[in-house]
Amino acid sequence: VVALLPGAAATAATTPLYRDARQPVEKRVTDLLGRMTLADKIGQMTQAERGAVAADPSLITQWRLGSVLSGGGSVPTPNTPQAWVAMVNEFQRAALATPLGIPMIYGVDAVHGHGNVYGATIFPHNVGLGATRDPRLVERVYRATAAEVRATGIPWDFAPCVCVSRDERWGRAYESFGEDPGLVVRMRTAVDGLQRGGVLPTVKHYAGDGDTEYGTGSGDFTIDQGVTVTSRADFERIDLAPYRDLHGVYTVMPSFSSVDWTEDGVGNPTKMHASRELITGTLKGRFGFAGFVISDWEGIHQLPDATVPAGEPRPTAKQVRDGVNAGTDMFMEPNTAARFEELLTAEVTAGRVPMSRIDDAVRRILRVKFQIGLFEHPYASTADLGQVGSAAHRALARQAVAASQVLLKNRGDVLPLRRNAKLYVAGRNADDIGNQAGGWTIDWQGRSGDAIPGTTILEGIRQVAPRATVTYSKDASAPIGKDDVGVVVVGETPYAEGFGDVGGPVCSWCTEPQHEPKSLSLQPGDRAVIDRVCAAAAECVVLIVSGRPQLITDQLPEIDALVASWLPGSEGAGVADVLFGRRAFTGKLPVTWPRSADQVPINIGDKTYKPLYPYGYGLRTRH
Ligand code: BGC
Repeated sequence: VVALLPGAAATAATTPLYRDARQPVEKRVTDLLGRMTLADKIGQMTQAERGAVAADPSLITQWRLGSVLSGGGSVPTPNTPQAWVAMVNEFQRAALATPLGIPMIYGVDAVHGHGNVYGATIFPHNVGLGATRDPRLVERVYRATAAEVRATGIPWDFAPCVCVSRDERWGRAYESFGEDPGLVVRMRTAVDGLQRGGVLPTVKHYAGDGDTEYGTGSGDFTIDQGVTVTSRADFERIDLAPYRDLHGVYTVMPSFSSVDWTEDGVGNPTKMHASRELITGTLKGRFGFAGFVISDWEGIHQLPDATVPAGEPRPTAKQVRDGVNAGTDMFMEPNTAARFEELLTAEVTAGRVPMSRIDDAVRRILRVKFQIGLFEHPYASTADLGQVGSAAHRALARQAVAASQVLLKNRGDVLPLRRNAKLYVAGRNADDIGNQAGGWTIDWQGRSGDAIPGTTILEGIRQVAPRATVTYSKDASAPIGKDDVGVVVVGETPYAEGFGDVGGPVCSWCTEPQHEPKSLSLQPGDRAVIDRVCAAAAECVVLIVSGRPQLITDQLPEIDALVASWLPGSEGAGVADVLFGRRAFTGKLPVTWPRSADQVPINIGDKTYKPLYPYGYGLRTRH
């Protein structure tokens, strides 16, 4: 048909089929694959970090990179939405300068809003979204996130984390929607939200990342990146549950963790990144996953290789071979892209990695790039930058914050507060937006203090109740009136990954001032502020801003009202909305709240289950 049209022959001769958007995706993939050299193919399978190419973007051309990422906290300077667009476009120009002009795909961790970008709307972390029990709201939150990510020229998000968090000592517990696989599965609307907002979701970390056994990790990672010791039946029921419905899922990230089928008596943990059974067999085979698998950050560098002494550069040839042959398609090699490419080329040439595996990987990556129209629209514009931190998104975040608050105790109906109340606000998380946002905010680890624009809880209180008399004293050193209602906001300071130990520091970065030892126990300073305010004020309300339950049993008798605020993000006014009854408390615990440290891990369905507050608990208020 085409040949009959005047001028078609000339067009066909100059325009390769893969560039013709009217052709079916599979045909375009096949055509392009047929034109690619081994170097082109291996380049598509390689993802480098922004920092590795920013000084010299021609490396993207030279290495024929398929993708570039910003790891947590890797941002352009200045960190403005405009600078992000300019950066992504500059990298894209370099990618399109390769002989076949295959666009690269940029990826970022927007795990609670577009957290890397200064001025973006920061939504509650997933643990708070789990507390809302509102899949529609979660879809809207992720859709708004997608709009902000898209606006900065980025088509790919390493989110949502669909981990099922089974041990609150895990430093990523707040990235989980909760401990119940059924709840996590319901919240997969996060995937739909990203997709509808024009951003590729990544479900992570496949599988069992939240179910590892305490003490099985190494170094900084006492539990994070450890071993999931389980039966096959429980692994299916708990850890694989979120991966069964892969509708709209374009990419999956394997977990750093390992799995150990004790029921088989093998006792020989397999790293997820090396599991052909689970990646190729289960995910791509049984679950029919048609997208591509992206490794985690240097994920293959952890694979066992007895032939190479410790301290040798990573990855090794064996790690590359085992990773590719297990079924991962693209490799996050932040600072070792060239080495990875060189080693994989040698493995393919020697026949240790079959060409069919390479073609399968590249086909999967190209398919996604065609499906999202990247060849037709490789560049970003600045037209939508108004989306970033927009009033509409902030209003949505405020609504999500209010819905995420869980009321655990309310003696004498002290909540909701009167809007003309005499308040005494204290505690280090009352007026600290960085603590309120948690990890994965501007920096990988997040940071205390004035990290992002937005509204702290204290500012929210002042906004929502302008007629209230508010005394603010962070450390509760100012005099407390016997008629004051105390509002004490305590909890955690930001962290990301690692941080497993209860009671002590286990991380090399804990020495930085903002990274105190992490534990499920409140810090002594927090306890002192609660004691002081609750002893002196007429009534006292305690809010815990944290990524996970904190032990509060000993102080509960002196507390009138207790609220789990999670990590609400940039819109602290949402907390004030429920405190003053502008909205009702409706949140329900997405995880079990332990009574004591020796109960942990504790999950609904355990044989002995006597927590302080059970999974699903949450009082309601009128509004
Ligand atoms: C995390 C991933 C994240 C990646 C890229 C890793 O350390 O485990 O969740 O997507 O870094 O920032």
